[in-house]
Amino acid sequence: MTTENTNTKDIRNLSFDDINNFVISNKLKKFRAKQIYSWLWKKKVSSFDEMTDLSNDLRALLKKEFRFDVIKPAFDQKSKDGTIKTAFRLLDNEIVEGVLIPSKERTTACLSSQVGCSLSCKFCATAMLKYKRNLTASEIFDQASYISKLSKEHHDRDLSSYVLMGMGEPLFNYNNVIEFINLLTAPDLGGVSPKRITISTAGVVKKIRQLGDDNIKTNLAISLHTANNEKRSKLMSINRSNPIEDLIKAIVYFHKKTQTRVTFEYLLLNKFNDSIKDAEELAIFCKNFPCKINLIEYNHFDKSNFKQSDKYNAIKFLDFIKSKNIIVNLRRNKGSDISAACGQLANIKS
Ligand code: SF4
Repeated sequence: MTTENTNTKDIRNLSFDDINNFVISNKLKKFRAKQIYSWLWKKKVSSFDEMTDLSNDLRALLKKEFRFDVIKPAFDQKSKDGTIKTAFRLLDNEIVEGVLIPSKERTTACLSSQVGCSLSCKFCATAMLKYKRNLTASEIFDQASYISKLSKEHHDRDLSSYVLMGMGEPLFNYNNVIEFINLLTAPDLGGVSPKRITISTAGVVKKIRQLGDDNIKTNLAISLHTANNEKRSKLMSINRSNPIEDLIKAIVYFHKKTQTRVTFEYLLLNKFNDSIKDAEELAIFCKNFPCKINLIEYNHFDKSNFKQSDKYNAIKFLDFIKSKNIIVNLRRNKGSDISAACGQLANIKS
């Protein structure tokens, strides 16, 4: 973390309008606001000294008025399948994890949105960590920037996609997540298409509706894992206050507003949600909207009561869903040997 002045505000917590107001109140040339903003979010520098087309006087003024906080990686762990998990140390000494997931033609950054998580999904290792706080937009942005560098270094290509699927529930940190997305997608800054970004939620009904109202054009993934209310309430505490009937209505609303096809994540858990009856319930649920299913192999971790479905049941489940003409993939989880796979982000060693 670079901290140039501990008594002042972090410049990266300022909006463009805030920087513009600073420029006006200091009687600087109008174009300076755009220049400073571009150094921060397009050229992604980590100190005022790197803003080389600003005069020394202006850089000195910025240093006097603002801090410049950038989160740095604490350490990386590399899986035998090429997945790299990075632990980032935050200014308050908390740690969050981000993951680079490579495949043949793509690289994906999986990003955290909170320190810990307030939800208690039974299959998830992050749930064991106490919720501490939301990440700021710049803390999410710094994870993405670092993982993007890893993608270049190890695979010689830019990131293909970004998923907010790491630690935390992104929709409980709505404003900062949307601010991060705006920084990444603004045509004069990151220029990333919203269709390369996925917000993954446990199913916060009110906020799914808000995504529709705000016309957020990213992809939306819902951690569903069962279409049966009783089972889902056992698995995911959020289902007690946001049951499946309400989730369906919110997704219909989101789809109507954004025309975006929603993806459902479905971890196949041995003898819990992997029978043909479970597949039938899922197929009926899917009739409500255009959607896609990702069936995911589960990675067991210590303290988890769940096990991976056996191959035979997984294939039977997949074939049943396919027979209902629903788009479905069966995914192998990556990075399980370094606890970087879906639902495993918690074994932080500092
Ligand atoms: S699955 Fe997501 S929402 Fe659920 S406990 Fe884990 S991090 Fe939180």
